[in-house]
Amino acid sequence: MSEQVEQREFQAEARQLLQLMVHSIYSNKDSFLRELISNASDALDKLRLEAFRNKDLEVDTSDLHIEIDIGATGTGIDKAARTLTIRDNGIGMTRDEVVELIGTLAKSGTGELRQKLREANQAGQTEELIGQFGIGFYSTFMVADEVELLTRKAGESSATRWESSGDGTYTIATVDDAPQGTSVTLHLKPADTDDELHDYTAPWKIRELVKKYSDFISWPIRMEVEKTTPAAEEGGEPTVTVETETLNSRTALWAKPKSEVSDEEYAEFYKHIAHAWDEPLDVIAMKAEGTFEYQALLFIPSMAPFDLFNRDGHTGVQLYVKRVFIMGDCDDLVPEYLRFIKGVVDAQDMSLNVSREILQQDRQIKVIRRSLTKKVLSAIKDLQANRPDDYATFWSQFGRVFKEGLISDGDNRDAVLRASSFASTFSESTTLADYVGRMKEGQEQIYYATGESKALLERSPHLEAFKAKGYEVLLLTDPVDEVWVGSVPDFDGKALQSVAKGEVDLGADDDADEAEHGDFTELLTWLKETLDEHVKEVRLSTRLTSSPACLITDTFGITPQLARMYRASGQEIPVGKRILELNPDHALVTGLRDALSASSEKDGLAETAELLYGTALLAEGGALDDPARFASLLADRLARTV
Ligand code: ADP
Ligand code: MG
Repeated sequence: MSEQVEQREFQAEARQLLQLMVHSIYSNKDSFLRELISNASDALDKLRLEAFRNKDLEVDTSDLHIEIDIGATGTGIDKAARTLTIRDNGIGMTRDEVVELIGTLAKSGTGELRQKLREANQAGQTEELIGQFGIGFYSTFMVADEVELLTRKAGESSATRWESSGDGTYTIATVDDAPQGTSVTLHLKPADTDDELHDYTAPWKIRELVKKYSDFISWPIRMEVEKTTPAAEEGGEPTVTVETETLNSRTALWAKPKSEVSDEEYAEFYKHIAHAWDEPLDVIAMKAEGTFEYQALLFIPSMAPFDLFNRDGHTGVQLYVKRVFIMGDCDDLVPEYLRFIKGVVDAQDMSLNVSREILQQDRQIKVIRRSLTKKVLSAIKDLQANRPDDYATFWSQFGRVFKEGLISDGDNRDAVLRASSFASTFSESTTLADYVGRMKEGQEQIYYATGESKALLERSPHLEAFKAKGYEVLLLTDPVDEVWVGSVPDFDGKALQSVAKGEVDLGADDDADEAEHGDFTELLTWLKETLDEHVKEVRLSTRLTSSPACLITDTFGITPQLARMYRASGQEIPVGKRILELNPDHALVTGLRDALSASSEKDGLAETAELLYGTALLAEGGALDDPARFASLLADRLARTV
C-alpha cells in the first residue's frame, strides 16, 4: 500500500508553544525524557486496564514495558546515529487521536494560555511558562530538531506515522505495519562540544536520568547495553556482548515510609502523576489499616494550573487498587475545593473492575475521602503555623479555591476557616484567631467589608467609624468572599458582621445623640419621600465620621457586589432598595435639615438630596443609574459657587 503522506498545520497555540521549545534555553532540558517515559507509562496503564475490561481485545499484555534505544533498534548502541527512541507496547493512538492529542494543545481550553504566551514572549519569561504549563510531548523539541512518532492503537491493524521538526507543520501518514504501541524517535540536535553533560547518546546519561526522574515508574524501563569482557588470553580481542538492562527499581513510593524517600524522589513522582513541572509545596503520606486498608500519597503543588477555575477542571488524585492503576482524576476522592491536591490512593480491598459510577456510591471511597480531607486540612494548618512562607505561597495560589470549602463543606467549616487567612485594615494577612486576639475591649463582632479591591474598601465611607474606634476590619476582595460570608455565621462565638449591612452599634448613645444634634425627624421623613425610588429607609448613622452619607444593605439583603456576580454568571437577581444612613455631624446634613425647616420652596433641596444619594453611591465604588443627570446637577451647583 502506498503511504498517503499528508501535511498539516499545528493549531495556533501549539505552534507558539513549539516555537518556545525549539528556541528554548530552558535550563532543565533533561526533563524531556521524564515526559516521554511518563507518557509511555500512562499508555501502559491504559492498556492493562483496557485489556482487563474488554476481553475481546486481542493484545499481549504479558510483557508490558518501556524500551530506550540509542541509535537504531536492535543493533546495540550506535552513538553516531544521534537518535534516541523511547518505545512502549501500551495502548497506542489512532490517527485521529494523534491529530487531536499531538497536533493540538488539549489544555488550551481558555484564552489564558494565549495571553500568557504573549506576555512571556515579551518579558522573556519562557522558563516560567514551560514550568507552568508542563508541556509534555513538545518538550522533545528542546533537544531534537526532528521528532518521529510511530504508533498503533491496540486492536487496530493500521498504524500512524507522525513527523515534525517543530516548525509550523507536521506530516501524518497511515502505514501498514508497526508494532502495537508507540515509539518516539528523537533526532538529536547537533552535539554541543562543550556540553558533555547533556549527551543523550551516552548510556550513563540515560541511566542517570531514568534513575533520577523515573525510578518509581511501575513498568520496567529497559535499555540495551554493551558489556565488554576482557580477552581470555593475552593479545586476544575483548568480547562485546549486548545485554538488556532494567534501569528503574519500580518501587511504589507510597508504600515506603516517608523517612526512606528523599525530597527529590517525591518531587519527581509528583511531576509524573500531576503532569506538572513545579515543585510540590508539601507531601502528605498516609497509611490506613483496619477495615479499609489503603495508602495515600498526596501533594500540595506550589503553582496553580491555569485552568484551576474551569468548572470542568479535574481533581488530580489517581486511584490504584493493589498497586494497579485504575483511574486518574478520581473526583470522588477529594472534595471540589481541594481540587488542587495531586496524588495517589492505593486501596487494598476494592475490585479492579470498579467504575466511576460505582465509585460515587462506594462506602469505602466515602471513608477515604473523609480522612483525606481531614489530613489535607491539618497539613495546611500545619503550613500556616510552621512554614509561613510556604503557607503564603499556598494561599496566593489556592486560597480562592480553598475558601469554597466554607460554603460546600459544612462538616469541616471550622477547620477550613481556621486554615484560611484574610487581609484586614491592620494586616496584609491575618487568621481569624489572630483577629479575635486583637479585638478591642467592648468589641463583640468580627467586622468585614467586601468589595472589588483593597484600595477601594480601605477608603470606603463604611469604614470610617470603625477606623475611628480602632476596630480592625477584614477586607474581603475575592468573588467567593461575597458568598461564603453568607454561610458562616460566626467564629469562636463571635458573629461575623459586614460594615455595610444591617445595624451596627458602635456605642453611640441615642439619647445623648438627639440632645447633641437636635431633631432630624423632618429631614429623615422628607428624604425618604424624595428618594423613594432609590432607598427604602433613611436613618442616622454611627458609621460615619467624615462622609455625609452611606448606603447600607439589610442584614439578609443582597449586596450590589453579589448581585453583580450573579449577573456576570448570567443570573439576574433583584437587588432590593437599600438604606441611606446620614452622618448627623456633617455640615451638608445639618445644613439640609436647617434649610428644610426654614423654607417652603423644596425643589432646589430635592436636587441636593439626589446629589447626596449619588455621592454615597460613588464613594462605595457603586455605579449611578443616570450618571449624565448626576453630572449636570453637579455642574449647575458648582457653577453657582465658583
Ligand atoms: P499530557 O501527558 O500532560 O496529557 P503530553 O503532551 O505529554 O501531555 O501528551 C499528550 C497526549 O498524547 C497524552 O495525554 C496522550 O493521550 C497522548 N500520548 C502521548 N504519548 C503517548 C504514548 N506513548 N502512547 C499513547 N498516547 C500518548
Ligand atoms: Mg505527558
